[in-house]
Amino acid sequence: MGKLSKKNVEDLNVKGRKVLVRCDFNVPIKDGAITNDKRIVAALPTIKKLIEGGGRVILCSHLGKPKNGAEPVFSLAPVAKRLSELLGKDIVFAKDDNVVGENARSEIAKMSDGDVVLLENTRFRAEETKNGEAFSRELAELCDDYVNDAFGSAHRAHCSTAGVTDFVSGQTAVGYLMEKEIEFLGNAVENPERPFVAILGGAKVADKLNVISNLLEKCDTLIIGGGMAYTFMKAQGLEIGKSLVDDEKVDYCKEMLEKSKKLGKSLLLPSDNVVAEKFPDPIDAPIEVETVSAESIPANGMGLDIGEETRQIFADAVKTAKTVVWNGPMGVFENPLLAEGTLAVAKAVAEADAVTVIGGGDSVAAVTKLGFADRMSHISTGGGASLEYLEGKVLPGIQVIQDK
Ligand code: ATP
Repeated sequence: MGKLSKKNVEDLNVKGRKVLVRCDFNVPIKDGAITNDKRIVAALPTIKKLIEGGGRVILCSHLGKPKNGAEPVFSLAPVAKRLSELLGKDIVFAKDDNVVGENARSEIAKMSDGDVVLLENTRFRAEETKNGEAFSRELAELCDDYVNDAFGSAHRAHCSTAGVTDFVSGQTAVGYLMEKEIEFLGNAVENPERPFVAILGGAKVADKLNVISNLLEKCDTLIIGGGMAYTFMKAQGLEIGKSLVDDEKVDYCKEMLEKSKKLGKSLLLPSDNVVAEKFPDPIDAPIEVETVSAESIPANGMGLDIGEETRQIFADAVKTAKTVVWNGPMGVFENPLLAEGTLAVAKAVAEADAVTVIGGGDSVAAVTKLGFADRMSHISTGGGASLEYLEGKVLPGIQVIQDK
């Protein structure tokens, strides 16, 4: 894949046209303040392009998971404010519990070319996540053309990410962010410069194990660390004590060990681990830890980071790579006593003479916290979406866009 065959914003002539843009403004908000505006910043190139082209830019996004309609804590109002600051331009926030109701429509009717309106949280409408036809139609009625730039939501077929395209009268296109994400991930997976090393870690074992089958076919070396590793170690018949495990996936892991052998791929698991008797609480609390070999995790021990020998082995594998895709930390990096494994791998990835792609909220947080973010080729804005892409799935939010 790599290069997208879908229309992009450059293919649209938006002068005087109302363009609905699905962004990913699902940003962390604490006490009404945005704590990380990375996703808003990532949406700017597409928004600016449409403003420069004289479009009437109608932005929409979901934020969090409201359960009971228009819950004020999930309002996009703080995003409107931040976006105005970043664009250096007043934008109108169409406060409207119905998202596309009276107020939204009257604000849109008042727009001039180059104006920007932000709609309220699309999940204030329960139909959004069910891809309900009525809301899709209502969204489509607001605009002439539609742009999807929400990579982080592209793996979901919702009204604002997919359903709306059935009813848009004009053209549909992907935004710059979507295009960039797919180019990096697509090239890494479909057309990688070799050796291609994939690194998986983190805690969402069930979600991530599925990606392994596809990655094994594409990569040369698959490194597995973090909470992911212990289900594999159990599959190898090792004692894993109280470590994170997904018992239902033990057989699958056995299959994957077989598959790697059959394909002649190297699958690296930790040869030693940093263990503790219990998970730190709070997460950064000082705790008693010891490093033990993979064969000698005590029955009351919990593996919480990769050990020193493993760090070296993983770093050596990364050093010679030409393409690296990394999703999920190597240990409980939030705790300084358990961050060394993630640090060692982050350093090796940063130093590798390779195309390096980092995905997943926590991996990105780890790389940023450890100071390596600007040394990566690409940091993905969508954890779940990037995983599903790596799994080889077609993302509905991209599939629905018109071909070039
Ligand atoms: P996201 O899914 O939010 O995009 P991610 O994919 O980068 O993030 P997750 O799968 O959510 O990563 O896992 C990150 C969490 O995994 C971290 O909070 C970390 O503390 C935890 N973690 C890492 N190693 C272990 C381990 N051995 N045991 C338990 N938890 C672990």
